[in-house]
Amino acid sequence: MFWSKTGFLSTVKCRIAVGYALLFALSFGVVFTTVYFYWRLSHLETMDRKLSVFLNEFAYEYLTGREFDTTFGAVPFKRVPEAALRIIERKIDGFSPLSAFRNVGDEQQFTLLGTQGGRLCRLRLNLADESFEAEIMKHAGHAGFLQKEFNSETYGEGRGQTFFLLLSPEREVLASSPFAPQLLAFLREFDYRPGQESVQYTIIRPGRHNLRLAYQRQYDGTILAIGGSLHAMDESLDRLIAIFCITGIPILLIGALVGWLLARRFVSGIDRVCRAADVIAAGDYSLRVHSAGEGSEIDHLIRTFNRMVGNTETLMNEQRNISDNIAHDLRTPLTRILGRAELAASGRQELEIYQNTVADIGEECYRMLNLINMMLEISRTESGAVEITRSRFDFRAMLRRSAELFSMPAEQKHQKLTLRLPETPVLVCCDQQKLQQVAANLLDNAIKFTPEGGAVDVELSVCDGEIRFSVADTGCGIREEERPEIFKRFYRADNSRSLPGNGLGLSLVSAIVTAAGGSITVEAVLPRGSRFTVRLPGLLAK
Ligand code: ADP
Repeated sequence: MFWSKTGFLSTVKCRIAVGYALLFALSFGVVFTTVYFYWRLSHLETMDRKLSVFLNEFAYEYLTGREFDTTFGAVPFKRVPEAALRIIERKIDGFSPLSAFRNVGDEQQFTLLGTQGGRLCRLRLNLADESFEAEIMKHAGHAGFLQKEFNSETYGEGRGQTFFLLLSPEREVLASSPFAPQLLAFLREFDYRPGQESVQYTIIRPGRHNLRLAYQRQYDGTILAIGGSLHAMDESLDRLIAIFCITGIPILLIGALVGWLLARRFVSGIDRVCRAADVIAAGDYSLRVHSAGEGSEIDHLIRTFNRMVGNTETLMNEQRNISDNIAHDLRTPLTRILGRAELAASGRQELEIYQNTVADIGEECYRMLNLINMMLEISRTESGAVEITRSRFDFRAMLRRSAELFSMPAEQKHQKLTLRLPETPVLVCCDQQKLQQVAANLLDNAIKFTPEGGAVDVELSVCDGEIRFSVADTGCGIREEERPEIFKRFYRADNSRSLPGNGLGLSLVSAIVTAAGGSITVEAVLPRGSRFTVRLPGLLAK
């Protein structure tokens, strides 16, 4: 089972699916909470506006014993214009305001209720013509009048929706709309904030449903309280929660599904790489993963993986070729050694034959040893394990000595060996022995692969702090497609198979030049031949 094999819960797909589900749930939760509180707040605001209108109206009627003129609306004192306050100050001494009302149709007309010297006073003023009228009201406390108003408003509002109550400072009921006894008891006991303050709003729960309560202490100490049922609001909020719960589960599942599908799409590239890695681990290096455009990171992973497998395949093939070549190169001399040894052991021979046999065996052994040593040296040079002994020497003199060493074989083949060197010494700081190996190998090859009567040109120059030396010949040349190959171990071009060699010389040259920070290139020379150029930057002695 997939579950038990890989541990489904620990897969990236599962984790992303869970992450998405949580993200969806969180976003949904945030949206829901915002909607919930916005809805609740706007409901309460509407309710508060309604209650405050009632409260102002009833406070006016209770204090004045007169019906409230509905063309006026209550305004906070800070919104009463300065000009109006100055007129009042001028006209009437020691007036302390209780409430202010402004004509809705004519904003210049104000009515203010207040006290002056302990008496209730009503002011009417018109800012347009500065007309002013003050009236001392009969002592406040028109509870009977208010009761009638309560009754008619309760009738208008509908029973059970809005409640009105006027309590004396001792919590006796002075006037009230019809009340359930339990609610009445609750409101009488309620902890009203002390002092004569602005309208207070709160939510109470005297029974099964919540109520919004607005109350205000009047200047004579009575408490005018008005309540509105929040039952409808609570019901709609409960419905909202139910909708949230019902839609929340599918949204959670949709989130998980979206996450899982997305993860499956993006992880499919990694899956393909894993499956390919399994096949490759079993030994098939020919497999490559195709890119399906799952995103640049996955494409990059696939490209890098394919490159890695390609390199490993090339390396494995090279290793195999090298092993084959070593086996081949060792088998020939070993077979020869065996043949000679068997011949020598087959019967009594003359001493000279034994001596020749031993000498031949020694020579074969020397060749094999040479081959093994060269391989080791190439590996060590490539890996940087060889210690480079730097010394200061004249590159020009070193090249001249190498050419002298090869002048004899060149002469034997009637070849013209030309040296083109700078006029002055070229002082360098490097491993002289290694560079000598480079020059010797290139000269050896040039003479070897050039027929009798040909020419070999050695040239040394210094350009922009870079030593450049080349060996050109008029030999058999190298086919273009074979040029990059000749620096690989044991590679021998087709047209050179008949000549002696093991295909390791140029590998060693390339390893030494690379280790010294330089480069080697090969090009064709017209009409026939090749030119090897070695570039060595930064070796000039200071
Ligand atoms: P070897 O000379 O022992 O065969 P090298 O590594 O020196 O091995 O050279 C590798 C191959 O490169 C040679 O076998 C030959 O085919 C080719 N080669 C090298 N130098 C020359 C040259 N000057 N002219 C033509 N072919 C060359």
